[in-house]
Amino acid sequence: MNFENSLAFAKQQDAQDTLAEYRERFHHPVIDGKQVLYFTGNSLGLAPKSAKDYVNAELDDWAKWGVEGHFHATNPWVSYHEILTPAMAELVGANESEVVCMNSLTTNLHLLFVSFYRPTTEKFKIISEAKMFPSDRYLLETQVKHHGFDPDEAIIEVAPRDGEHLIREEDILAAINEHQEQLALVFFGGVNYFTGQLFDMEKLTQAAHNVGAIAGFDLAHAAGNIPVKLHDWNVDFAAWCTYKYINASAGNVGAIFVHDRHGDNTDIPRFGGWWGHNKERRFLMENSFDPMTGAEGWQLSNVPIMGMAVLKASLDIFQQVGIENLRQKSLKLTAFLAFVFNDIVELFPDIQLEIITPSDASMRGCQLSVKLVGTDKRFFSALTEAGVIADFREPDVVRLAPTPLYNSFEDVYQFGQTLKTLLAGWQK
Ligand SMILES: *Cc1c(COP(=O)(O)O)cnc(C)c1O
Repeated sequence: MNFENSLAFAKQQDAQDTLAEYRERFHHPVIDGKQVLYFTGNSLGLAPKSAKDYVNAELDDWAKWGVEGHFHATNPWVSYHEILTPAMAELVGANESEVVCMNSLTTNLHLLFVSFYRPTTEKFKIISEAKMFPSDRYLLETQVKHHGFDPDEAIIEVAPRDGEHLIREEDILAAINEHQEQLALVFFGGVNYFTGQLFDMEKLTQAAHNVGAIAGFDLAHAAGNIPVKLHDWNVDFAAWCTYKYINASAGNVGAIFVHDRHGDNTDIPRFGGWWGHNKERRFLMENSFDPMTGAEGWQLSNVPIMGMAVLKASLDIFQQVGIENLRQKSLKLTAFLAFVFNDIVELFPDIQLEIITPSDASMRGCQLSVKLVGTDKRFFSALTEAGVIADFREPDVVRLAPTPLYNSFEDVYQFGQTLKTLLAGWQK
C-alpha cells in the first residue's frame, strides 16, 4: 500500500474505513480542556459509552430484587459469566467450554500453574521470554520456589542476541530442544508487552508438545489485538486481562482458556471453590468437590456483576465488529503510523528514534515500541504535554498503540504533526 503523510490522505482513509463509526462508541479523554491523541489502548482501553447503561441496568436490578436478582435479574447473576462466554470464546478462537471470565490475570495464571506446572525432579524447567512483564516473572519465580526448585536453574529465558531487540524464533526452538529432557512448560506472552513482538503460538505449542512439555500463554497484549486460534493451535492453557485491548475498565475480571483435552478431565489437580463445583448441585452445599468439566471447573467465586456488565458492553462491540475485520484495519493503521513516524524522524538526523517492534506485520499487533536514542524520558514528557497519551517503559522505550476500534488515520497523521513540532524544538 502506498501511504502519503498528508491530512487529505488520512481523511480519505477514514472515509473508506468501514469501522470508522466505532470511534464514536467510545469516550475520548479531554485533558486540561484539550482533546488528546490516545495511543494507550495497550495499557487501558477507552470507555465504551454503552458501559454506563449496562451497569445501570444491574444497579436497577439490584435495587429492585436484592438477593433475588441472582435468579430474577434480567440477566440472572448466578449465570452472568455464562452470557459472556460466547463472545470471549470467539475472540480467542476457542470452544465455549474452553473459556470462562473470572478473577484477574495474575491470579488466574497462578491457578492454571497449579494444574499445568507440576514439576518433577526429572522435568521441572520452564522456558520463557526474557524481559517478561514483571508480574509474569514473579509468577514463574514464586511457582518454581513453591515446588522447591531453584529459579536460576528452572527458568530458562530466551533473550534477544547481543545488539538485537527481538527474540529469534530459532533461538526459542533451539532452547526447547536443548532442555527437552527436563522441560515441563513453555510459557510465553502471545505479544511481548515491551517490544510488541508477536510469537508464533502454534509453532511454539507444537515444539513444546514434541518434547512432552505443556504450552501456556499470557495473552494480555494479544486478546482483542490479534486473532488467535487457541483451540486449533492446540494450546494447553492461556489467560488474559480485559482492561487493555478489551476496554473493560481498570482491573476488571480476566479470562482463562483450558483446552478441552484437559477440561474434560476432572481429575486434573486444581484449587477448588464453589463456583467450579457441579452447578446442578452447587446450592446443595455438599462437602465433596465435584468440578465441572471445561474451563468453568477452574472457577472459585461468584463473579463481580458490575465489572462483568462493563465487560459485556465491550464484548458486544467486539462481536459486532469481528476480530478479523479489526485486524484488517489494524494492519493498515499500524503500517500508516510506522510510515508517518519514519517520514518525520528522517528529517531530524540528530535524534535517533528507532522502532524496535518487528517491521514484518505478521510479527506484531498494533503496538509500536520506539527506542529513544540520543534523547531521554524528557522527550516522552514533552510528548504527553503536547497532548499525546502514550506510555514510557524503563529504561528508554515509548509505546504507541493505534487501536483500530477507536483510533483513526487522522489521529495518526496528527500525531506525526505533533512529533514534527516537538523534534524541531528539540534540536535547538
Ligand atoms: C498487563 C499485564 C499484566 C497485569 O497483571 P494483572 O494481574 O492484571 O494486574 C500481567 N502480565 C502481562 C503480560 C501484562 O501485560
